[in-house]
Amino acid sequence: MSTKTERRRHDALRTMLHDMRERAVQDIEAQMGRRLNEASRHTIDAAMDLADWAAMDLEDDVDLTLLQLRYTRYKEIADAFRRLETDTYGVCEQCRAEIPLERLEVEPFARFCVSCQERLEALERVDREEQRFKTAHTPARG
Ligand SMILES: [Zn+2]
Repeated sequence: MSTKTERRRHDALRTMLHDMRERAVQDIEAQMGRRLNEASRHTIDAAMDLADWAAMDLEDDVDLTLLQLRYTRYKEIADAFRRLETDTYGVCEQCRAEIPLERLEVEPFARFCVSCQERLEALERVDREEQRFKTAHTPARG
């Protein structure tokens, strides 16, 4: 069962991710200097590392590091797509609240809502402070 609002949100997210994925593929294609066919796109979607890229018959002067970065982004988008289909995309991993569309437009791979994110960051800060305190106050032995 899904309400009209939920469907609209789902559609908006799908459109957003779709556009992002198209742009990511275009970036990769532009760098490789050729269009990817469906099969190649599928290969990108599957697990692929630098060695696979090297085997893809690329021009010698292709910057593999940059390509790898773009590929990582593509994978993040593809992963978000999969999560969208299982209704886990755009949902806070901590409190299960929906992350607002406006936040996802700015941070498409946000995993937490703003309040959980802030709480987690505060916790991390406390952790770091404690770590620093301990290091500073532990007498050197030996
Ligand atoms: Zn949350």
